[in-house]
Amino acid sequence: MRLERCSQEVWMCNHCSMCTETVCDEAGWYKTCPVYGQLRFEDTSARGHNTVAFYLLEGSLSYSKEVAESVFACTTCASCEEVCRPFGNVVAKIGGSALKTLVPPILNALGAEMDTLHTVEIVEAMRADCVDLGLQPEPLKKMAESTDKNRNPYGQPHSDRLKWADGLGIPDAADTVLFVGCTPSYLTREIAQSTARILKRAGVSFAVLPDEWCCGSPLLRAGNIDLARKMIKHNVELLAGKGVRRIIAPCAECYMAIGRDWPKMVGDLPFSVHHITDFLAQLASAGKLRFKNSIKSTVTYHDPCHLGRAMGIYDEPRSVLKALPGVRLVEMYPTEHAAWCCGAGGGLKASNPELAVDIGMEKVPLIKQTGASVLVSSCPFCKTNFVDVMRKAKVSIEVKDLTELVAESMGV
Ligand code: SF4
Ligand code: SF4
Repeated sequence: MRLERCSQEVWMCNHCSMCTETVCDEAGWYKTCPVYGQLRFEDTSARGHNTVAFYLLEGSLSYSKEVAESVFACTTCASCEEVCRPFGNVVAKIGGSALKTLVPPILNALGAEMDTLHTVEIVEAMRADCVDLGLQPEPLKKMAESTDKNRNPYGQPHSDRLKWADGLGIPDAADTVLFVGCTPSYLTREIAQSTARILKRAGVSFAVLPDEWCCGSPLLRAGNIDLARKMIKHNVELLAGKGVRRIIAPCAECYMAIGRDWPKMVGDLPFSVHHITDFLAQLASAGKLRFKNSIKSTVTYHDPCHLGRAMGIYDEPRSVLKALPGVRLVEMYPTEHAAWCCGAGGGLKASNPELAVDIGMEKVPLIKQTGASVLVSSCPFCKTNFVDVMRKAKVSIEVKDLTELVAESMGV
């Protein structure tokens, strides 16, 4: 069982429930798990996932279709990790499960910090076991099969990967590579095109690689670990073989995979990686972005979970937005580390699209309260899901990627 590598962490969960619902106005929390918030079943929260994991490890529960249903009902948003402070490790040292109720207040009174429990890793380990046992939901299985065959999860020919770049004259070799990702390459081509146009106008010398494969993130989130490793290995060999020194990723998912997951899978990388928002913030502060057009809009920003909570990028997109002439940035509440998930992550948009939209619908009142006419994000998955959300909610708020707004202002 792949879950065995998480056995210590599973034991540390003290079933405190912070990961299901947290109310703390001062810290901006009044909800934690987006899936539990919708379904209200214990086994769809991190606490429930840990209980299931505990019994699987103990041997009193076996993997089944029902277990798989619970394990795949998670957006991997890591909202639960943000609030979780387990103390099983402390209890393990001093012994006695009765102490579980006494230790947190004592530690809190002493001001002691406790590491979070990596609940997303536990979920992903159980998903990997489900894949091994043939229990993966059908839509995710199809996406994995397509990724193996076409190098992208969308059933599109690999030869069409760079169609979005037709006529843009981007070379296929340079020190800096735009790692486009499958979603901007096939589904949200406007993000790939805006990104490329901005970089060209800013005088950045960069390439795109026709033989780029999926970054592996959708596979890792869905439990297809071995296939993800194959994708990652190919990409690293390709990039290293071309002597690439720097990667720019317009997708939050790719950025998280390259920056966080690739080194874990294949060791140190011979190149650095930037999310486009980070790169644009640097270009803007160096005066390399020339804004010609006023946007004349009130804008609010949605923090993508895999860019914010996973990678700590909160300030950079905001600094770019603030630099755009005519943009009035208004924050929704809660935001940043406490931001609510859009609903599309962790394969949920593929395995349960209605639930993904229902989760996103919960953010509509928060967005409306800001009075913004444009919702901006910096992840193609968030954009795609929020477009569906606004359609369902019959709300005329435009959904845009940050790169689209920057390109508009630069007139490219
Ligand atoms: S996962 Fe963390 S927050 Fe959730 S019940 Fe366990 S210890 Fe508490
Ligand atoms: S990662 Fe998000 S969706 Fe999954 S259990 Fe944690 S809070 Fe819930």
